[in-house]
Amino acid sequence: MKRANKGTGLVFFPAFDWAISATHPEREERLLYTRDQIFEEGIMDLPNIKEYRAGIASEKDVQRVHICVPNVSAVATESHLISAGGAIAAADAVLQGEVKNAFALVRPPGHHAMRVVHGARGFCNINNESIMVEYIRKKYGNHLKIAFVDTDAHHADGTQDIYYNDPEVLHISIHQDGRTLYPGTGFVDELGGPGAFASTLNVPLPPNTTDEGLHYVLDNFVLPVLEEFKPDLVINAAGQDNHYTDPLTNMKISAQGYAQLNEKLKPDIAVLQGGYSIEGALPYVNVGIILAMAGIDYSYVKEPDYYPERRLQSDRVTEQIKRTVEQLQTIWSKRNSVDLNKIFGKGRYYERYRRIYYDTDGIQEEQKEKIYRCSECTGYRLITSKARLFTGRKQTAHIVLIPHHACRSCQEVGLEEFHKLKKNEKSDFVYLQDSENDLYLSNI
Ligand SMILES: [Zn+2]
Ligand SMILES: [Zn+2]
Repeated sequence: MKRANKGTGLVFFPAFDWAISATHPEREERLLYTRDQIFEEGIMDLPNIKEYRAGIASEKDVQRVHICVPNVSAVATESHLISAGGAIAAADAVLQGEVKNAFALVRPPGHHAMRVVHGARGFCNINNESIMVEYIRKKYGNHLKIAFVDTDAHHADGTQDIYYNDPEVLHISIHQDGRTLYPGTGFVDELGGPGAFASTLNVPLPPNTTDEGLHYVLDNFVLPVLEEFKPDLVINAAGQDNHYTDPLTNMKISAQGYAQLNEKLKPDIAVLQGGYSIEGALPYVNVGIILAMAGIDYSYVKEPDYYPERRLQSDRVTEQIKRTVEQLQTIWSKRNSVDLNKIFGKGRYYERYRRIYYDTDGIQEEQKEKIYRCSECTGYRLITSKARLFTGRKQTAHIVLIPHHACRSCQEVGLEEFHKLKKNEKSDFVYLQDSENDLYLSNI
């Protein structure tokens, strides 16, 4: 892997021809105002900034992450594939040593899309940043250690789900407390599966958290954890909806707060998530982040109504954040001495059962998952996913997952399980996703 020591890559994809509906907050103007601001500031003329074109993610790229039911084209449009392709273009620019870091300003966003996909949740169909990460692992080395830091106001439940049993991928999500915001998850006790305990970390923040609280979390928890984890790559899933003017959330972060976050975190790649204050926040936050990534002074980037003294953080909010950070510090420092059998049971399989609601597409999914507790690897997994679509139609998928670095036995048993399911479940969809051998099979 060649790495450059300067230059910032930018990829824009506003998806002009794609929207959930004409008045939906997730719409193309989200990026158009940012683009105008960038031109107005002359950022594209700076010698350190290089623009890259988004490619189009292939079906295979998507299948390394997702099981799309019944297939990729049923859940992802060309716009979704280009948005994911934008993240991939950013990754290539960085990993081929052309630029030091890169920011993919793309939509539609991705972080609510889980491993199994029946449709759209939280405006997301496919998970751009996970598709990018699996592309990186395939192309640049599958032993790379990767850290996600998701700074969208909503819990990154999709990315968490995709990596929840993968110890080489650390997933930290900082978000508005799930008791007060969609999707209602992302609590301190969600710490990942038996093969990757404490590789999933969640920092729920109370409504009205300001730059002060966000930076307290960074300085006292996120940065020290990253220093210990020593990732080869840091990915920032950069959601701008913590901004004080965002219409969908209740947070009080400013463009300066976001730019400083970026300067401290030093992500190799940032991939845009949400942010719905189209004129009041996005142009300022995105420009602040770009300048911080390029190592250029951003102190002048301020919203016209930026008066931090009017938005001081209350003592109650400060206390709550300190308690959460303390809890997380304890979990992190004791992670290696935890008795996993106490948490995941002593059985040969760990089982989880979930109900997943797709708010965007009105789909109800019921999911049962079994993870084989293998002593040699993180274990093959069996998932049964039953979905009831908005139209009332039902579809069931049986899935076998073979993880990265699976042992020989888990590879063999997994493949056998797939062939058995294929024979027995003729009316349902059956899939095998084998990350170790980069193989994807189905009965359709
Ligand atoms: Zn969001
Ligand atoms: Zn195994």
